[in-house]
Amino acid sequence: MPQTVTLTLTPKQAADAKYYTSLAARRIGISDKDVALVRVTKRSTDARQRQIKVSLTLEIYVDREPQPAPVRFDYPSVAGRTEVVVVGAGPAGLFAALRLIELGYKPIVLERGRDVSARKRDIAQINRNGAVDPDSNYSFGEGGAGTFSDGKLFTRSKKRGDYNKALQTLVFHGADPSILYEAHPHIGTDRLPQIISAIRRTIVEAGGEFHFESRVTGFRLRSGRIEGVDVGGRRIDGAAVILSTGHSARDIYETLWRDGVRIEAKPFAMGVRIEHPQALIDSIQYHCAERGEYLPAAAYSLVSQENGRGVYSFCMCPGGFIVPAMTDAAQSVVNGMSPSRRNSPYANSGLVTEIRLSDFEHLREEWGELAGLKFQEQFELAARANGGDAQIAPAQRVADFVSGRASSALPATSYIPGLTPSRLDLWMPRFIAQGLRSGLATFGRRMRGFVTNEALVAGVESRTSSPVRIPRDPDTLMHPEIEGLFPSGEGAGYAGGIVSAALDGERSADAAARYIGR
Ligand SMILES: Cc1cc2nc3c(=O)[nH]c(=O)nc-3n(C[C@H](O)[C@H](O)[C@H](O)COP(=O)(O)OP(=O)(O)OC[C@H]3O[C@@H](n4cnc5c(N)ncnc54)[C@H](O)[C@@H]3O)c2cc1C
Repeated sequence: MPQTVTLTLTPKQAADAKYYTSLAARRIGISDKDVALVRVTKRSTDARQRQIKVSLTLEIYVDREPQPAPVRFDYPSVAGRTEVVVVGAGPAGLFAALRLIELGYKPIVLERGRDVSARKRDIAQINRNGAVDPDSNYSFGEGGAGTFSDGKLFTRSKKRGDYNKALQTLVFHGADPSILYEAHPHIGTDRLPQIISAIRRTIVEAGGEFHFESRVTGFRLRSGRIEGVDVGGRRIDGAAVILSTGHSARDIYETLWRDGVRIEAKPFAMGVRIEHPQALIDSIQYHCAERGEYLPAAAYSLVSQENGRGVYSFCMCPGGFIVPAMTDAAQSVVNGMSPSRRNSPYANSGLVTEIRLSDFEHLREEWGELAGLKFQEQFELAARANGGDAQIAPAQRVADFVSGRASSALPATSYIPGLTPSRLDLWMPRFIAQGLRSGLATFGRRMRGFVTNEALVAGVESRTSSPVRIPRDPDTLMHPEIEGLFPSGEGAGYAGGIVSAALDGERSADAAARYIGR
């Protein structure tokens, strides 16, 4: 049995494997040369005090002791087995497909966008000249919205076993093993594409099918049961359909609505993306002029109640970039991503406020359950009208935004298409602008220097979560009115983030297997 040791170290000591191995060996009374393997099992940084500490939990294996086997999954062949249609190749769809294979079913994955390499070229076009392919962009394409992201792997899921398995699946497909022990694991946008295509290879090698540029345009419904889907003029049938199209697939919600399949408007959140120089965030969080070479780019997480409404930071990307995440050129939508080393000179985060059902009640009569989606769309169109051509986004300096002043010029930004000065508060719904303003004032008191004209807010951060829920029975996970339809992931309203979407995809596959085998 390995021995476990927890050490509290300075960031420099924690970066020196020789140093901490020797210290751990002494702690358990053995000599350095008897150590066969040291495995980090937990690592976290505590920056609350001036003296920053790293807590490192290690497993020490001595000579001739059996060592842990590398993470490995065996996927059986499912060629010729019962077929299940999986719509969407985001984290929910990919993990649903992997789980179906484990259970002996053949997934037929239908993805509207292109594979990750072709998708990179489509994304370059958005940044270069503002051309947005409505099927292949930052939200759509292989890997879904999680491919060109920060790859943060947090979840509030209480089921640790499932969470660990999801991380191990990512490691098996090429992610750095450090995600298994870091307190705040992330992968980075430079590494995600290879992992996503390795998952696709697993699915195809096991006998599953993967179809790109296959946008589902209709559902084959008969007597309250789904038999398959339409891809343009082609019909694709399956014993069950897992619908994991993400929260940006507005056409899917509209098709379900048109077909009389029950969907429900739900609360969500919208706001702006805020960007600071990373060095400023480092100095606030680490209480020092420079973070030096041993500390990672600092992050923050802020939440407050302003006049009874939640305002919070969302998807913070240290050392990252603001990206154009619209799915149509007529919208302005921003989001954030960062590379594995988190080494850009900027720190960005969503800064959003709660949107309640009552906020878009006025759109109900015309749009019914799509009212929230239309409210979200109006926000994006207003941002586009106040931005510029080629995806130039409207922006304001942060202190100016808080005090209601125009910014005549803007600070440097990571946002490649560029920014144009705009009084965001004049065209946003008043309650959003006011919520963000008072939230910022509160955050400025908690993090001195956060509200500054060295930082900017850019519009708009609108795709935080789904404005629509596709209902499902809590036990069968099936749509209550359509037998065989399994709404899954973020677009169905049951997940928020890469890992929770992946876990929900797995659960949907389990439920589909139970339904087929009933
Ligand atoms: C820029 C950015 C950065 C992010 N950073 C993080 C992060 O660091 N950590 C984190 O946890 N989360 C992050 N997120 C959120 C995260 O990506 C999502 O929560 C997650 O991807 C949701 O997974 P999903 O599978 O439910 O949906 P999606 O990832 O949205 O996948 C849905 C898929 O369905 C496809 N599709 C849609 N309509 C159709 C159709 N009609 N036919 C066929 N296919 C269709 C889409 O092309 C897409 O590939 C980020 C999102 C963005 C946009």
